[in-house]
Amino acid sequence: MSDAELSELPESHPRYLSLRTRHRIEEGVEKGITSKQGLIAEGRGEAFDYLLGERTLPTADDAARAAAAHLHLARHPVISVNGNVAALVPEDVVALAEVVDADIEVNLFNRTDERMRAIVEHLREHGAEDVKGLAGDARIPGLDHKRAVVDADGIGDADVVLVPLEDGDRAEALAAVGKTELVVDLNPLSRSARTAAVPIVDNIVRALPNITGHARDLSGRSREELQAIVDGFEPATALEAAESAIRGGTLDSRAEAPAETNGER
Ligand code: ATP
Ligand code: MG
Repeated sequence: MSDAELSELPESHPRYLSLRTRHRIEEGVEKGITSKQGLIAEGRGEAFDYLLGERTLPTADDAARAAAAHLHLARHPVISVNGNVAALVPEDVVALAEVVDADIEVNLFNRTDERMRAIVEHLREHGAEDVKGLAGDARIPGLDHKRAVVDADGIGDADVVLVPLEDGDRAEALAAVGKTELVVDLNPLSRSARTAAVPIVDNIVRALPNITGHARDLSGRSREELQAIVDGFEPATALEAAESAIRGGTLDSRAEAPAETNGER
């Protein structure tokens, strides 16, 4: 769909948010930010989101709050950005980084200098000041050379990493070097979600602003209070709830649950 077509679409259109999301991914591909693999990943995510009723489950909201607490407690939090994240939610990445004082690092599965630079530039256009990722002077052990590249003073040094839509291998490798991983992934069965300390099974377009909202709400809380939120979160419970919503949800119950809906159905 073209810009003109999208601008003619009323926000009340039942598919407005979904169509806008697709449009952003399309634009991302055109600008050299999003890869073709990224298009496939978006389609896969959309299918899960459809089955979830395009809403944030209460357990995903708990996860977002736990993620916000982790980010506040961190010594050095980093938000990892790939081509889909950059295309979909650049302004939300910048806002969250500001609230929790995190670094932003571009980290690509299919790393090319051209795409790295396009994404850094895109994030700067959306207000990011310092974007890491171009140095590529450290490696995550356990991954082949190209997939392992990170910045030594970015993800290399981080204790807490928010990795939306991360590939399963890399999610496992990051967890294996002892980093606390906060993952946003609509597939509760994916290895990325399963290795996360905090799996947020939600669409990135809802999850990031939601984490930021919780982070704002939690700023200034004591470390004890933040730690209690972290300790009270159970990843297995959140994954089970998401899986049963996807497997057991019916189209009818979705339509009847407007209280939980912040999607567009
Ligand atoms: P595994 O984690 O099991 O190794 P994978 O990483 O190979 O799987 P991909 O299809 O490459 O699987 O990863 C894309 C993942 O990102 C999918 O799990 C998909 O549900 C998720 N995803 C795609 N778009 C979004 C989105 N907008 N918000 C949240 N998650 C999304
Ligand atoms: Mg995955």
